Amino acid sequence: MRVVSACLMGCECRYDKKSNLIMDIEQLVREGTALPVCPEQLGGLPTPRNPAEIVGGDGFDVLNGTAKVIDNQGNDVTSQFIDGARQALRIAQTVGATEAVLKERSPSCGSHMIYDGTYSNSKKKGVGVTAALFIQNGIHVSSEETK
Ligand code: SF4
Repeated sequence: MRVVSACLMGCECRYDKKSNLIMDIEQLVREGTALPVCPEQLGGLPTPRNPAEIVGGDGFDVLNGTAKVIDNQGNDVTSQFIDGARQALRIAQTVGATEAVLKERSPSCGSHMIYDGTYSNSKKKGVGVTAALFIQNGIHVSSEETK
């Protein structure tokens, strides 16, 4: 079993209430070999919501308390992102998932690149908060671009 970002199977759970549908990933869910999760919704954030970026590091830094997740209005949404990551991990562990395919560049789900925290459309190497927590707990994380 693997976990996938819910937006990749067509759920309109992105900050702008759109999806990132990829038919191959929808098919995995259809076959019952993948379970969709949206960490930001699981953390209690609404949809639509303000876009957010990690400021001062990446997902590992958020988990160890040295970086924050801030939305484009300046609101600190770090606790919601951490709560969502924990809930997503709980689901993944409950179904025995050993792999996750997560949306690249998301502050929750990115596994290689994330936006750099300046809201200037610039990216940097790093992982999102949920991807970091999954990696820390032995779940192999890839993206829709590297699966
Ligand atoms: Fe998709 Fe992850 Fe963002 Fe939810 S948190 S919309 S699953 S990229």
